[in-house]
Amino acid sequence: MKKDLFDFLNTDLQFVKGVGPKVAARFDDVIGGRRVLDFLLHRPSAVRPRALTQSVADAAAGQTVTIELLIKAVRPGRSFRGRRVPTQIICADHAGATVIIQFFNSNFLDYWLKKMPVGAWRIVSGKLERSGSRNIINHPEFIEEPENIGKIPSIQVIYPAGEGLTQKTFAAVRDQIFAALPDRLMGADENTLEFFAALRDIHFPSGADDLLPNATAMAKLAYYELLAHQSAIAISRRARMDVRNARPVRPQKYDLMDKFRASLPFELTGAQARALDEIFADMSRDMPMMRLVQGDVGSGKTIVALAAAVWMAARGGQTALLAPTDTLAQQHYAKLKPLCDKIGIVCDILTGRDKGPARREKLVSLRSGRTRIVVGTHALFSEDVDYKDLGLVIIDEQHRFGVAQREALRAKGRNPDLLALSATPIPRTLSMTMYGDMDVSIINEKPAGRLPIKTSKIPMARYGELVAHLRPQIDAGAKVFWVCPLVEETEESHVTAAAARHADLEKYFPGAGLVHGQMDKKKRDIVMAEFADNDSDMKILVATTVIEVGIDVPRATIIVIENAECFGLAALHQLRGRVGRGNLQSYCILLFGRNLSEDGMRRLDVLCETDDGFAIAEQDLMMRGVGELMGTRQSGWIQYHFVDYRMHRDLFKLASRAAMDAPTDEWTRDLMYIFDRGETISA
Ligand code: ADP
Ligand code: MG
Repeated sequence: MKKDLFDFLNTDLQFVKGVGPKVAARFDDVIGGRRVLDFLLHRPSAVRPRALTQSVADAAAGQTVTIELLIKAVRPGRSFRGRRVPTQIICADHAGATVIIQFFNSNFLDYWLKKMPVGAWRIVSGKLERSGSRNIINHPEFIEEPENIGKIPSIQVIYPAGEGLTQKTFAAVRDQIFAALPDRLMGADENTLEFFAALRDIHFPSGADDLLPNATAMAKLAYYELLAHQSAIAISRRARMDVRNARPVRPQKYDLMDKFRASLPFELTGAQARALDEIFADMSRDMPMMRLVQGDVGSGKTIVALAAAVWMAARGGQTALLAPTDTLAQQHYAKLKPLCDKIGIVCDILTGRDKGPARREKLVSLRSGRTRIVVGTHALFSEDVDYKDLGLVIIDEQHRFGVAQREALRAKGRNPDLLALSATPIPRTLSMTMYGDMDVSIINEKPAGRLPIKTSKIPMARYGELVAHLRPQIDAGAKVFWVCPLVEETEESHVTAAAARHADLEKYFPGAGLVHGQMDKKKRDIVMAEFADNDSDMKILVATTVIEVGIDVPRATIIVIENAECFGLAALHQLRGRVGRGNLQSYCILLFGRNLSEDGMRRLDVLCETDDGFAIAEQDLMMRGVGELMGTRQSGWIQYHFVDYRMHRDLFKLASRAAMDAPTDEWTRDLMYIFDRGETISA
C-alpha cells in the first residue's frame, strides 16, 4: 500500500475539521482508537429513514418522522408544583394537525428557539410520541428551513455512538474522510481499491439490507478481516517453531517457588492451581508456551501470572508484564512489589512517564539481568530497552494489543514463553476461532469467601421504594454506584438525564456525586477519588458509563443500573463487576423502563440467574440478533469489526486455509496492518 494512503489512515482524528483534541479523545474511548483508520473500521449499525411525511396522522407513535411544520406559538418552560414543565413549541402540519415540540434542556434553549421563529415553516425530524391525542416530538434531531431539506438525509446512517459524540459528528467526520480518500487512492492496486469501495458501501448504505452480514460489502470485509487475523496467527505459529531461535535450557536454581507459596496469604483456588499446572508444564517443554488465561475480573489471574514469573526467575530468566495503560501498570506494580520484596526478587516498573537518569538506571538494571520482573506499558518494547534474558512475556488484557505488539515484545528475548490474560470470557465454542494459536486455561472459580452478587430486576415505577431501601444500607456503610445509560442519541438529553437523576438523589443523599463523559478527566478523577474514600460523605455516585473503565472501590457493594435494558449482556456483566470485590454481600439492581422488549427481559433474566461470565457469554451468543449491539467497545465480547461469528463460519474456513497454505503476500501484510491496531508485522 502506498505511503500516502498509510499516512492518511494514521491521521489523528483531531486534525479532521471540526473535531479537535477533546472530541478525538471521545472517539478514542468510544470506538477504541482515534485515527482515520479506526473510524473507517467502526461500522454503522442501522439506518433510519427520514423521508418527508405529509402529516403526523400517517405516522405511528415511536416512529421517526420528518415533517414540515408551521410554528404557531412558544410556551416557555417553568416549574409547576415542584415539577419541571418543558419549553413547548406549538406547531401545525399541512393537514392542520397540531404537533408539540418539547425541550427539556434549558442550556441549549436559545439556540433552538432562534431556529424556530413564530410564523415560519420549518422541517423538523425526530421521534414522534403520543400522549393521549397529543402529538409530541422531544428534542428533534433536525430543524431546517424548507429550502435546506437537503441537510436532512433521507436515509440516516446510525453509528454505535457514546457519550460526547452525536450522530451528526459521525456523519460529518465520515463525509470529510470519504471526500479526501479518492486522492489518496490514486494509483492504488486492485485489492486496495476494492477494499475501500466496500468500506464506502457500508458507510453509505442504500438501505438496511446493506448492513446485513451476508451483504456483498459486509461479507467481503469480513473475509479480509478473517484473513488478516488468521495470517497473523499463522505467522506467530511459525515463529514459535523457529529452530534458529533456540530457547536456553533453564535448570531450577533456587527454592523461590516454595518461598512464594509460603508467602501467599491465601490458598489458591482449584481453578488457579489447575491453570498453574498447565502453565508450568508448558514452560518445561522445549517449545515456547503460548497460553491464554481467561477469568472474570477478581478471579485471581494476577497471582497466577506472578507465579509464572517467579518460576521463570527461579531459573534465571526475566519476565515482562505488559499492561494497556499507565494506571493498570501502576496497579499491578503495587500488588506485585510487596510479594516480590518478601521473596527477594527485584521487581520494577517502566512506563512512558520514566525519563532521564531514572529511566536510564532502570534500563541498566534490566540489561544486567538484576531486574527480574518488570511491569509496564508500550515502553517495555521501546527500541532502547534490552533484556539480559527475557524468558517470559505476560500480556494483561490481551485484546487491547495486536499480534504485532505481542510479537514486538517477544522479539526482545530468544523465543520466550507467552502468557496472555483476559477478563473477557469468550465462549468456549469460539475460542478456537479467536485464539487459534493459543492454548487456553480457564479460571471459572472465585476465591473462597467471595459471595455471589445478588441481582434483581425491578421496574422504574418502584424507584421511590428502591431509594427508601438504600437508606439503611448506606447508613450501614455501603457505597452505591448509580449508572445512567445513553438513552437518547442527542447527547444533551443524555447528560441531562444523569444530572436530573443526580439532582433528585441528592435530596435523599446529600453529598451525592456525579461523573459523566463531558467533564474533564481531572475533575472526574477528583470526584471518583472522593467516592472511593471511605470517610467521605459521598455515599452514592451517579455516573454515566464512564465508570466502566478501571475504578476499584471496595466499599461499593451496591450498583443500580438504570434502563438496564439498553445495555448488552457484556456491558452489564462488566458493570456488575464493579461491586462484589471484597467479602461483603453485594447487590446489583437492574431498573427497567416501560418499553422493555421480550429480548430485553431475557437479557436481564440471564443476569439475575448467573454471574458466571462464560455462561453469560454463551447465552449472549445464542440470543443475540444479527448485528444487534455489536460494534462499540463496551457492547461485545469479541473485538471483530465486520465478522459475525455465527454467519461467517464458511468465510472463517476459507480464510484460515488461505492463511495456512499461501505465503504472506504484500496485500495480506497490508490487511494485517489495517486490522492489527496499526503495527506492521515482521514475518
Ligand atoms: P484478576 O486479575 O483476575 O481480576 P486479581 O488477581 O487481581 O484478579 O485478584 C483479585 C483479588 O483476589 C486480589 O486482591 C487477590 O489478592 C485476591 N485473591 C486472588 N486469589 C485468591 C485466592 N485464591 N484466595 C483469596 N483471595 C485471592
Ligand atoms: Mg487483573
